Amino acid sequence: MSEWQLYNRKGQEYFSIDSWLQDGVDIAFTTRRGGCGTGAFEACNLGLHVGDQAEKVLTNRRNVLRIFDAELGQAVCCQQVHGDIIQSVNKSQQGQGAFRHEQAIPNCDSLITNTPGVFLFTFYADCIPIFFFDPVHRAVGVAHSGWKGTMAQIAVKTLKAMEQEYNSRSGEVHIAIGPGIAGCCFQVASDLYDKVNQAFTGYNGIIKTTDSNEFYWDLPETNRQMLIKYGVKPHHITSSNLCTACHPELFFSYRRDNGDTGRMGALIALKH
Ligand SMILES: [Zn+2]
Repeated sequence: MSEWQLYNRKGQEYFSIDSWLQDGVDIAFTTRRGGCGTGAFEACNLGLHVGDQAEKVLTNRRNVLRIFDAELGQAVCCQQVHGDIIQSVNKSQQGQGAFRHEQAIPNCDSLITNTPGVFLFTFYADCIPIFFFDPVHRAVGVAHSGWKGTMAQIAVKTLKAMEQEYNSRSGEVHIAIGPGIAGCCFQVASDLYDKVNQAFTGYNGIIKTTDSNEFYWDLPETNRQMLIKYGVKPHHITSSNLCTACHPELFFSYRRDNGDTGRMGALIALKH
């Protein structure tokens, strides 16, 4: 199966993709369930920068790495500033940002690696996690693509970085678009609506207008179409059709919870 499915291993609940696991990729997108956080952070908050108690977050993070029998010190985190900078990492960056947000790679929203056992670990509450896997040159990546990252086409820039670093080819790379805020819930103001129309001419159905003249932008679909335009094969892309704002039982949502919320985690590594 090359679709997102819900898994539970060692008490940790997460979404993953069977065909990627079979190809030796450890991939997970966590839900909010099963951790030790309380209140707005109930329960599996993985963000160290959102006001939760650090010890609880680190416990949750360790449990997530344990899905793949790994240690938190094998993870690499970046500060995620809604920019479009990509960093290629290897064993020398392991542990950066895993235990302290200040030590995460600064000014960076996308991580790539071709070193097995290096876990790329990024965090989300509505922004779109985009996972990359090149089965030919054995490399993986993950991009944090919110509306700013989508405007900046960080997904395409991540592919370009993989081409440069690992000789990847867009026609060979597999993409998994994880849960994020979708077109049902991501309302945008008219000035952003105009910018989206300018930036994405020729795209199909990425913004819907309601009868009361409200605009809803479909970020996952915009990312999917931009990747296809860049040369990714449509059958190499799998999209989770789960909206984080629509599912309070499964996900934190920055917009739904007015900013007072936790973060889910996107984790990816090469097993070999
Ligand atoms: Zn929704």
